[in-house]
Amino acid sequence: MDIRIGHGYDLHRLGSPAQGGKKMVIGGIIVESAIGPIAHSDGDAVMHAVTDAILSAIGAPDLGTLFPDTLADNKDRNSSEFLSDSVMRANEGGWVIGNIDVTVICDSPKISTYKEQICTSLHSLIGAPINIKGKTYEGTTKDSAIEVHAVALVQRGKH
Ligand SMILES: [Zn+2]
Repeated sequence: MDIRIGHGYDLHRLGSPAQGGKKMVIGGIIVESAIGPIAHSDGDAVMHAVTDAILSAIGAPDLGTLFPDTLADNKDRNSSEFLSDSVMRANEGGWVIGNIDVTVICDSPKISTYKEQICTSLHSLIGAPINIKGKTYEGTTKDSAIEVHAVALVQRGKH
C-alpha cells in the first residue's frame, strides 16, 4: 500500500477595504464581512492551505513556488485554479485523494455558518471527503487574521 499525507498551512491578515482588505472568500465561498484578506491573489486561505497539503502529499513543489506572488498573472487570481491544478497534478501522478481535513482559526467572520457550503465547494473540486473545523483565537491576538491548517491523504490507485 502506497499512502502518503501532506500538511498545508496559510495565514492572511484581515483588514477593511481602506486597509487593502479584499472580499472575504473562504474555500471558494464569499462570506459577508466588513474585513477581508490582505493578499496578492484573492487571499482564500482555505484554498491555499488545502492546495499546499495536496502538493506536499504528492511531493510536488509548493504553492508559492508554482504560483509566485511576484507574478502579475497571479494578482487577484481565483484560488480555485491553484487547487484544481494540484488535483490535476495528483491525478497525473497516479494518486487518488483519500480525504482532506481542515482547521480554520478565525475570530470574525465565524465560519460555522458557512461550513457546509465550504465543504461542498471543496468537494466539487477535489472529489474526496472533506472535513472542516472552526476555531477562534480565544482572545490571544489583537490582530484580525485567518489561519488555516490542512491535511491531505493520498494513495496510489487505479482510475
Ligand atoms: Zn494565502
